[in-house]
Amino acid sequence: QPIHLVDYRPPSHLVEDVHLTFRLSPKGTRVIAKIRFRANPEGLDEGNLRLDGENLRLISLSLNGHPLTALDYLLTPQGLTIPAERLPGPAFTLCSEVEIDPEANTALEGLYTSNGMFCTQCEAEGFRKITFYPDRPDVMAPFTVRIESDLPVLLSNGNPLASGEGWAEWHDPWPKPAYLFALVAGDLVAQSDRFTTASGRDVALNIWVRPGDEDRCDYAMDALKRSMAWDEQVYGREYDLDIFNIVAVDDFNMGAMENKGLNIFNSKYVLASPETATDRDYDWIEGIVAHEYFHNWTGNRITCRDWFQLCLKEGLTVFRDQQFSADMRSAPVKRIEDVLQLRARQFREDGGPLAHPVRPESYVEINNFYTATVYEKGAELIRMLRELVGPDAYAAALDEYFARHDGQACTIEDWLQVFEDVTQRDLSQFKRWYTQAGTPRVSAEWHIADGTLSLTLRQEVPATPGQPLKEPALIPVRLGMLTPEGAEILPDMVIELDSPEVSRSWDLADLAQAAGVSVPQRVIPSLLRGFSAPVVLDAALTPEDRAVLLAHDGDPFNRWEAGRRLLREALVADLAQTRFDTAGVIEALGHAAGDTHLDPAFRALVLSLPSEDDIAQAICDIGLVPDPVAIADAHRALSARMGAALGPLLQRLYAENDPGPAYSPAAEDAGKRALRNTALRLLSLTGDLTLARAQFENARNMTDQVAALSCLIAGGETEAAARFEAQWQGDRLVMDKWFMLQIAQAPRDMALDRAKALTEHPLFDWKNPNRFRSVIGALGQTPAAFHDPSGAGYRFVADWLIRLDGLNPQTAARMSTLFETWRRYDADRQELIRAELERIAATEGLSRDMSEMVARISG
Ligand code: ZN
Repeated sequence: QPIHLVDYRPPSHLVEDVHLTFRLSPKGTRVIAKIRFRANPEGLDEGNLRLDGENLRLISLSLNGHPLTALDYLLTPQGLTIPAERLPGPAFTLCSEVEIDPEANTALEGLYTSNGMFCTQCEAEGFRKITFYPDRPDVMAPFTVRIESDLPVLLSNGNPLASGEGWAEWHDPWPKPAYLFALVAGDLVAQSDRFTTASGRDVALNIWVRPGDEDRCDYAMDALKRSMAWDEQVYGREYDLDIFNIVAVDDFNMGAMENKGLNIFNSKYVLASPETATDRDYDWIEGIVAHEYFHNWTGNRITCRDWFQLCLKEGLTVFRDQQFSADMRSAPVKRIEDVLQLRARQFREDGGPLAHPVRPESYVEINNFYTATVYEKGAELIRMLRELVGPDAYAAALDEYFARHDGQACTIEDWLQVFEDVTQRDLSQFKRWYTQAGTPRVSAEWHIADGTLSLTLRQEVPATPGQPLKEPALIPVRLGMLTPEGAEILPDMVIELDSPEVSRSWDLADLAQAAGVSVPQRVIPSLLRGFSAPVVLDAALTPEDRAVLLAHDGDPFNRWEAGRRLLREALVADLAQTRFDTAGVIEALGHAAGDTHLDPAFRALVLSLPSEDDIAQAICDIGLVPDPVAIADAHRALSARMGAALGPLLQRLYAENDPGPAYSPAAEDAGKRALRNTALRLLSLTGDLTLARAQFENARNMTDQVAALSCLIAGGETEAAARFEAQWQGDRLVMDKWFMLQIAQAPRDMALDRAKALTEHPLFDWKNPNRFRSVIGALGQTPAAFHDPSGAGYRFVADWLIRLDGLNPQTAARMSTLFETWRRYDADRQELIRAELERIAATEGLSRDMSEMVARISG
């Protein structure tokens, strides 16, 4: 049943063009497809025409105008095959009519309805639920679409051709795979604007939303225009149609989708107003609007040959959206946030039973591989490649990539070949990053002897499921060295760690002279600056060394990292009951947080604690078994201790960083709010809720309101949540926050009962993925409650996953990753989780998505 990369075969037939007609009706939509095929000169097999099709009621089928009977083809639940001998020749036209039921489509894949509107999600394999078609990304064709419906707004890909009462036609001239097809029909209103491309093409921009939401589109529109300009300036990529549409949909499995000229978004990542969206939401909107727009070149114009190559478009597009956000905001802050995400999601995945290479070699259900590894680690590989070849060669290689492969469906080999051709560099070792799973561990040793400073770097790539042995990776380690006084004695450089061990040495006197300092007794290395590779670094730095880096490192990422490691060590020491100078750490952090030369957003990050999940992993790394309840208590105790020890500073930060009454989502004000609300949080956790109460009363934007509400819930005040509910019960996106915060912020022994009670709430609509995630997901991401020693947290999550799987396998399967770290925990907990996994696996009618996930997690 698994599909393997090595089994790839080119398609037997290519598509010249497609004409689709949709007669929309909620329960019985007719889809008429007219497809012109021609034999693929590169086809390898006997030449049968094989079309994918699932859940389609076949009405009629004809070939070159001649009706086909059941004897002419083979129909299975997966599709339709017309044997080569029944085909009239190398070129022919197939017409089909099918009926589908969009309203019954709860999986939200293919054509479905959401709040009375029709919409589609075809990536990866949803188009086969719309009509019979070769639903594979290496078949690209121009599409013409006619939509017949009474609904006022009828949209598809490409440019509008013509429209009239009850119909509209669209034509997309750019050949595309079926996964980029989209259709939307509904009672929608647009917020519109225009953009003129560098070469003078006038593009109409529209963001389509439900009536009432039109005043929440400004920021997404602004982000879109900035993205279009940025891709022209930085990558030389222009938009290529006369119109660009974005549609916001409430029921959506993922974040958004880059359908050609018609991006469809989870409304969470489009709609924003200061009153209803937080700074984080604005940040996400900017990044996701950019991401989907950037796919127009990296994904659409150049697409993937097969789904194993998913990282070709996703890794590159994530990297591009990260670059964009770094340019729009603070680059160091963006880098820290990206690394936080990478460690929280991808390292967790890479270190557990679901570890897989950035380019997987087999899958059962491709939807299970839209992972942090493919996306985020995939983006890190592009970043490393750029670091290794340099920015100029990177730019030249990208130009060549677009020139060489425009209009094609490509592989990672094609991508790396471009870099090899442009740089004349052999990248075969670098390619291991795409094929080997697991997070490499890099260790460093350094010493001074006889006036020589030596550094040795070592690497080890851990075994992962199915990959017991690994070859050394090519790891760019950016580094510098500081004196104990904080002067930089070894300037910033990159060492390519390309074997199990690499050593370098320097004459210390020469270094000292060049740096203009006296010869030091010892040095402090600042390793992996900017997080130059996605690895775990072990370096025997003392807390004093880290404090020097926190105070003086020229690399902002490593400054933050030093503080973060100190906090982690303080928490681990507390839990492992070893001695540690926590007071000294708090003082050093306070120093950095109070430094007004530094960006407030950066200072907020300095004061933020590692997550409970990070601590659990850190405890495992020193060979102990994490206790989630003890971790939650230690986490809270350390926050309170920081709040008490830094009280006057935090009060001052709170007072000094008020951006004033007018709300701007831009980085500068958002950074001030972040610092202010971080201070509020630490102060509140000392037990004094005065400031939080006042802020909750006076908040004029959702960022401040949510920050205050979080503190009040954490402080055990239930009345604030009731008032928030009364104020926002009519707003779906805000209510998602309300559901989530009551669980995630609850005192730890209350979270599970809260979650259970919230599933009885009249607004708990479990069929809506956002709402489901904000309750079941929130509980699963609240470790002390999820890992309740009774097993009740596991049972709660498993019950709901089983229930959701019957309706929406994709979202249910994705959330099964809540269990992926189960082997970290004690034998009792492991036993309880294993029982839940077995119960899920034994469920009758379990989806392919969920079966694969549970089997892999169980190991
Ligand atoms: Zn993407």
